[in-house]
Amino acid sequence: MTDFEMDKGADGVAVIRWDVPGKSMNVMSREGFTELETLVDDALADEGVKGIVITSGKDDSFAGGMDLNAIARMRDEAGDAPAQGLFDGVMGMHAILRKIERAGMDDKNRGGKPIAAALPGTALGIGLEIPLACHRIFAADNASAKIGLPEIMVGIFPGAGGTTRLVRKMGAMAASPLLLEGKLNDPKKAKSAGVVDEVVPADELLDKARAWVLEAGDKDIVKPWDEKGYKMPGGAPYHPQGFMTFVGASAMVNGRTQGAFPAAKALLSAVYEGALVPFDTALKIEARWFVNVLMNPSSSAMIRSLFINKEALEKGANRPDAPDQRVQKLGVLGAGMMGAGIALVSAQAGMEVVLIDQDQAAADKGRAYTADYMDKGIKRGKATEEKKVETLGRITATTDYGALNGCDLIIEAVFEDPAVKAEVTRKALAEAGGDCIFATNTSTLPITDLAKASDTPEQFIGIHFFSPVEKMQLVEIIKGKQTGDRAVAKALDYVRQIRKTPIAVNDARFFYANRCIIPYINEGIRMVAEGVTPPLIDNAARQLGFPVGPLQLVDETSIELGAKIARATKAAMGDDYPDEAVDEVIFWMEGEGRLGRKAGAGFFDYDEKGQRQGYWPGLAERYPPKDDQPELIEVQHRLMFAQVLEAVRALEDGVLEDIREGDVGAILGWGFAPWSGGPFSWLDILGAPYAVERCDALAGRHGRRFDAPALLREMAEKNETFYGRFGQHAQAA
Ligand code: NAD
Repeated sequence: MTDFEMDKGADGVAVIRWDVPGKSMNVMSREGFTELETLVDDALADEGVKGIVITSGKDDSFAGGMDLNAIARMRDEAGDAPAQGLFDGVMGMHAILRKIERAGMDDKNRGGKPIAAALPGTALGIGLEIPLACHRIFAADNASAKIGLPEIMVGIFPGAGGTTRLVRKMGAMAASPLLLEGKLNDPKKAKSAGVVDEVVPADELLDKARAWVLEAGDKDIVKPWDEKGYKMPGGAPYHPQGFMTFVGASAMVNGRTQGAFPAAKALLSAVYEGALVPFDTALKIEARWFVNVLMNPSSSAMIRSLFINKEALEKGANRPDAPDQRVQKLGVLGAGMMGAGIALVSAQAGMEVVLIDQDQAAADKGRAYTADYMDKGIKRGKATEEKKVETLGRITATTDYGALNGCDLIIEAVFEDPAVKAEVTRKALAEAGGDCIFATNTSTLPITDLAKASDTPEQFIGIHFFSPVEKMQLVEIIKGKQTGDRAVAKALDYVRQIRKTPIAVNDARFFYANRCIIPYINEGIRMVAEGVTPPLIDNAARQLGFPVGPLQLVDETSIELGAKIARATKAAMGDDYPDEAVDEVIFWMEGEGRLGRKAGAGFFDYDEKGQRQGYWPGLAERYPPKDDQPELIEVQHRLMFAQVLEAVRALEDGVLEDIREGDVGAILGWGFAPWSGGPFSWLDILGAPYAVERCDALAGRHGRRFDAPALLREMAEKNETFYGRFGQHAQAA
């Protein structure tokens, strides 16, 4: 079986169909590339062939992209001179696509064979880079199709000519959201953006492409950049208009990424340098920067976490063996902020939802959240009135627990109070059938304790969402001591239905995500008390790629909540409580009424509209900035190690059973420096010996919380890496 097949028609059009056996969407392998080249060579050499259409054998997609597993392996397989090996491989891909683009033309641009791409649907990554090398791109009018170059999202950039061709086709300014943000468009938007040339009814796709191929003349198939006097749309860097674009793009990329993402910088360099030279040299430059990115450990770490492992977790890598547990009817207890969001995403996924609160008004308000959300979607053209009616129709808002009859999963999201939670658990389980799985969305209470309200603790589990539910991709599943396999399978199947990414961890204080976020926030607050300036603290984090610094984060989540958690933790831990220095600041802020963004006053001042105005000067009066401020790297290492050491301890304690979950969960759950691939990947990049050295230095200066965990110390002695030691199917230490 091969990935590509060719069918030479009597009309002289050779149709090359991409149809990878056994896959619902095509992905490109290195072997696939060779097959494509062989067929193109054959068609170009065959005098009976007048032109070519490249299309897909899949009904509603062209291709999902390059097989990223292959890219991840490419470097490792490139032998003693990996950069050279990679470069040669990438130049090989360029040569094939360039062959398609030139299609047998002579140096006067005569005598080539027209080649059209016919895309039935989704065309991503290499699935768009191949069409970009063709002479005309036809896309079927398929509203659910996504067309674009999302490579930047996993830490690389389009390196098979996509970068160079798109910029030359549309200009740097127009190409920048597509390249730098990985923005995807449906076919119509892709046409108005200038990415595809024609959108046609799906059943006419092949005929239209074929007809164009038969009619196209020499002039129609020469790319503008292969013609004399080509000028880049919007101007090259030394053109006055181009100058503005390039200066602006550079500032924008640095502003957005804070310089923390190697791929964004490399992409911009490839575009800038490529714009100054002829096309073939530009391809070579693109290849050099692409190899530079592939050689950076960040790119393989990002691909591993954000593509390979994320997908594996979504597909149920850690699902226990149990029959299909897809949810039909869901009960949601508590229609507040979280309950309303849970009802929304579940109804969107097609489930029947019963949304319960203490009084009808509160329940209705929770349901109205879905209506508001859908209205916003309609305004932005992302939803329709019918979709809204359909989605809302699935949600019943009520105070009647009897409506829970027949629910196969109930998620509780009432107040964070064990007594209230126990009461609603009992009431709900009295109504639901005996098979029903009961889940709590608690952020802080032990699952094993809450399970005591149920007679069937093996059917009790934690399903911990992050706020806002509809935006946050991660869902943390927490197994109590008695939680059984079916409950875990149910939670995983449910998360899959709502198309989020699950991690499954064991029950311990703050589970996994909050356990790591709290030390991050606390480290920031400690530094305030020591007289480190707040901008240095927050910017140090942002330059590491965190979406917000620790002080801004506390303002967003509320200082009141921080104080509440601190009191509860202290009560539970007694003399072992380690965070007095943090509480000093938090309790004082609380006393001053600086409760965070919602109160319009926190570490920052806010205007009446809630816009941040700058750090509150009162902070510097109480904690005057010290004269000698620490080096940026010291602040950054304090913030990073505070989190990653907690992640290592979670692994040591058996809270985490799989380092893949630790890495993916950190990036999706709290925006942990995505370029690093996650806490464990970051430690692997540093190397355990250096990490331990840093821990010793930090512990000496700042306290025992930076002591290297025994596991890390042992790994340093043996010079092991986490991915080396715990492998792909990592189990607890
Ligand atoms: P919320 O105060 O917005 O909503 C709680 C809702 O529960 C309210 O509408 C309330 O009327 C209802 N409720 C209270 N007692 C009830 C009862 N006896 N019967 C029926 N309904 C009752 O709170 P929230 O922020 O949505 O949090 C809910 C749960 O989710 C808590 O356990 C919280 O720890 C957890 N959580 C919150 C967040 C977050 O960021 N807010 C994140 C993850 C988890």
